[in-house]
Amino acid sequence: MKDCLFCKIIAGEIPSEKVYENDDVFAFKDISPQAPFHAVIVPKAHIGSAAEINAENSRYAAKIFEAVAEIAKEQKLDNGFRVVTNAGEDGGQTVGHLHFHMLAKRYLQWPPG
Ligand code: 5GP
Ligand code: ZN
Repeated sequence: MKDCLFCKIIAGEIPSEKVYENDDVFAFKDISPQAPFHAVIVPKAHIGSAAEINAENSRYAAKIFEAVAEIAKEQKLDNGFRVVTNAGEDGGQTVGHLHFHMLAKRYLQWPPG
């Protein structure tokens, strides 16, 4: 989608540090990491947020969680990790392209702030 930051990162128009890629999913290091390991995992199709997942595009959600398990193995996140998606204003979403934060390599408090 034109003028979408994460579509531009997927297309390579904006550089990023790639963590993982397949036909459906792209993952890259967050520019402002909140943990020693902090990746952003996105579908290659433009979906606005978790509020826009439906019967037509929900296979991307499954593909993202397949990627999560692959990344956990590749990055040796044996001590655990957290996956979170922010949706809408109260959810703290700042980029309007569905994405999942994958955080690891420190103890993560629950509940979050
Ligand atoms: P949100 O706040 O929407 O859940 O997450 C957006 C995330 O994208 C933030 O954690 C932010 O640091 C990250 N981000 C924003 N712009 C860029 C960028 O240009 N490159 C990378 N790698 N991450 C970005
Ligand atoms: Zn997009």
